[in-house]
Amino acid sequence: MKLILNPGREKSLLRRHPWVFASAVQSVDGPSAASGETVDLFSAAGEFLARAAYSPHSQIRARVWTFGAESVDREFFQKKIRTALAKRSALNVQRDTDSYRLLHGESDGIAGVIVDRYNDVLVLQSLTAGAEYWKQTIADVLVEETGVQNIYERSDADVRELEGLKSITGVLRGEIDNSRFAIYEHGVKFLVDVQSGHKTGFYLDQRENRRRVGELAKDRDVLNCFCYTGGFSIHALANGAKSVLSVDSSADALSLLEENLKLNDLPAERHTSLEGDVFQLLRKFRDENRSFDMIILDPPKFAPTAAHAEKASRAYKDINLLAFKLLRHGGILVTFSCSGGVDAALFQKIVASAALDAGRCRHRLGRFDRRFYARQYVLAGGCRHDLIRFDEPNCERSAGRAHSIHSEARNAGTRNGRDRQPRNLDDPAESYHRGPRLRRDRHPHLVLGQRLAVFTDGNWRILYAGYYERRGWTQCRSG
Ligand code: SAH
Repeated sequence: MKLILNPGREKSLLRRHPWVFASAVQSVDGPSAASGETVDLFSAAGEFLARAAYSPHSQIRARVWTFGAESVDREFFQKKIRTALAKRSALNVQRDTDSYRLLHGESDGIAGVIVDRYNDVLVLQSLTAGAEYWKQTIADVLVEETGVQNIYERSDADVRELEGLKSITGVLRGEIDNSRFAIYEHGVKFLVDVQSGHKTGFYLDQRENRRRVGELAKDRDVLNCFCYTGGFSIHALANGAKSVLSVDSSADALSLLEENLKLNDLPAERHTSLEGDVFQLLRKFRDENRSFDMIILDPPKFAPTAAHAEKASRAYKDINLLAFKLLRHGGILVTFSCSGGVDAALFQKIVASAALDAGRCRHRLGRFDRRFYARQYVLAGGCRHDLIRFDEPNCERSAGRAHSIHSEARNAGTRNGRDRQPRNLDDPAESYHRGPRLRRDRHPHLVLGQRLAVFTDGNWRILYAGYYERRGWTQCRSG
């Protein structure tokens, strides 16, 4: 079958964007294709554009397999998988762990296929019509290329509904009698349940951050919020944390955490599990005047899309503000967002404004490098602390969105909205004297009277802090 696009709609494909929306399709030629079958894409002028997986139920009507004329067959997937495996092995993560992401879907040219390796079991998620169509072929190639005999399928993500696919879980290849088994990572062990754990069983994408938390946790009283099965808690305890309090609303997650403590022979007296709602417990701790040397916030996704950003911002602000208040002098806040609808710049502002509202003057915010990473994070000193900043080249996810701190800086350097020429943004002194002018239309999340920090240099240093007012922005202090 051929899909012929509306005039002009070939442009994104010519720029190698792999999606074709339903509205871009002008007509269909030839016998109708089944869900996931390979179709050819043509421009209105009859020019061949690409080969793609057809998805009749989705708004994304086709996802490109190849922009060339090569056939999409077993050999095609073998080539893609070999390339992906070579890239993963070049990262050398196997030195530190037996569990890591093997296939990254679209980033590896196999849209909709995620494969995580947990020791000698692969867990496969098929998320699109095309992935579903080729699933058995892909499973065969995976066994052949990795030598791993066992594949468990976790195709139970909600997004399958958009593709007209039902949820499927179960053994796809080999024999998996026990869905729960141990993996290791940076010197500690974790039990993973591939059948009922979150996602494919474990948050592999937080591996390097767990290691970093371990490095920073020595002799600290740690509060780990949204702890799941204790990833951060175990690393903190194994690296000499004085105490760890782990909070999660899931009793199942906490019971696996307790088993993880035993698995690593960690002293139970230094750890406490608490089942409950983080939003309420942080308030309770505040009212009880409790304090900690390190607080970790790794909540679930508050904003799946930009439409949820405002509500999510309030939730992030709430927990970060409470956490700053509970932080002792010299403490570290390790805070994350995995919300696609909240970009790094907004998250940075939320955390900064929480720090200001908590009265944490002169704090510094640092962050991991996001170039290889989709999650966002900030490590922030409680008060008078130095920037903590480091790179994370070996990350699981390969496609991070480019972040531009300078968009904020540009606004700050704009006199009144008419003067669009960015000034010398690298010169903090110059920006400082001029004073920032923020425009609400560019910052829809700003509310009157909101305190906010403005960053104007590449080091994430807060140069302005102030209030948003009806007529603009009033600087109140600089850090
Ligand atoms: N930090 C973990 C992953 C956290 S996933 C790791 O590295 O492994 C998010 C966790 O938040 C889940 O375990 C979920 O049960 C928990 N959760 C969601 N909403 C919550 C709430 N309001 N209060 C407490 N825990 C919550």
